[in-house]
Amino acid sequence: MNKPIDSKQIKDSTTEVVYDEVAATPTLNDAAEPGGMGCSAPSTEPSADGCHAGKDEMLKAAKLAGQSDILDQYAKDYPAGPHDQPQSMCPAFGSLRVGLRMRRTATVLSGSACCVYGLTFTSHFYGAKRSVGYVPFNSETLVTGKLFEDIRDAVHQMADPEKYDAIVVTNLCVPSASGVPLRLLPKEINGVRIVGIDVPGFGIPTHAEAKDVLAGAMLKYAREEAEQGPVAAPRADNSGGRPTITFTGEMFPVDPITLGQLLEPLGLAAGPVVPTREWRELYQALNCAAVAAIHPFYAASYREFEAAGRPITGSAPVGYEGTAAWLEAIGTICNVSEADISAAKQKALPGIKAALGGISIDGTITVSGYE
Ligand code: SF4
Repeated sequence: MNKPIDSKQIKDSTTEVVYDEVAATPTLNDAAEPGGMGCSAPSTEPSADGCHAGKDEMLKAAKLAGQSDILDQYAKDYPAGPHDQPQSMCPAFGSLRVGLRMRRTATVLSGSACCVYGLTFTSHFYGAKRSVGYVPFNSETLVTGKLFEDIRDAVHQMADPEKYDAIVVTNLCVPSASGVPLRLLPKEINGVRIVGIDVPGFGIPTHAEAKDVLAGAMLKYAREEAEQGPVAAPRADNSGGRPTITFTGEMFPVDPITLGQLLEPLGLAAGPVVPTREWRELYQALNCAAVAAIHPFYAASYREFEAAGRPITGSAPVGYEGTAAWLEAIGTICNVSEADISAAKQKALPGIKAALGGISIDGTITVSGYE
């Protein structure tokens, strides 16, 4: 028969064996502990804990590192709203995905290894099928400026015009909070454009807005190129010589075709969708008659379209009244005649009415989501 278990024995066997008193040393995180040191002054070196370090601490560090202008612009462009920042995946995934979906575009991340692991894992889960560059750092290279030199060396090594139109370098939370100055990277190496962006989780609410950060940076670059002289023509131009409407916000592949059918009676054609799939589409997007702001939060992109003198109208052709209002708005900003606007409505609206009449929903619809 087994001997009864002695409860004292269990307690002793689970007690940690210690050899010195190191574990009792007070740390910076012990503010709440009696006798702890706490944080006496904000550090300019952000914690490598990234999003676990606390948004306020990261913001404080970033402002001390001279990033106020960028953060103020983000706060203006992407107001958090009454619910503050929703719990979602790392915001940088949005801009990473935009870059990974573009032809002849390389992406390089600068951030904590755990962030890069999560971001590359997610991007490959979504079928990226290409490498994501990574420039690692430690606290020494971060503080001494060596990280910036490493990033600069990396883009010089990668800038092969045979392979790339552009290289996108993204500062994640810790390098953004430290003020790693991507704006000082060369603008172009061997004809390959270098686009540096800061996409900190403590400044960008969700990955939806991060898409605009990269799309806006690329549009700005392309607009300035177009202002200097001739630029590459689009690979495919299905406009048939008609003025085009550029759409903002990712959509399903069939959506631009449907939108093009709605626009046809107005004498207009569907242009590119921003974020674009290729660099030269950026010029085509800027060269539109007007912009349909399908997704509302592309603030940086709208700034570039405004700078290029392009009118913008919001919303999307959804439902009977929504489609009527959208056609009216697009027709009006493109100076289309009343007769053609009416013809466009006549073509689209009866079918919508019939379809909705056949499947009317009597109830309350709760709309949820952030994009
Ligand atoms: S980069 Fe993303 S995962 Fe990393 S700390 Fe920032 S928000 Fe978190």
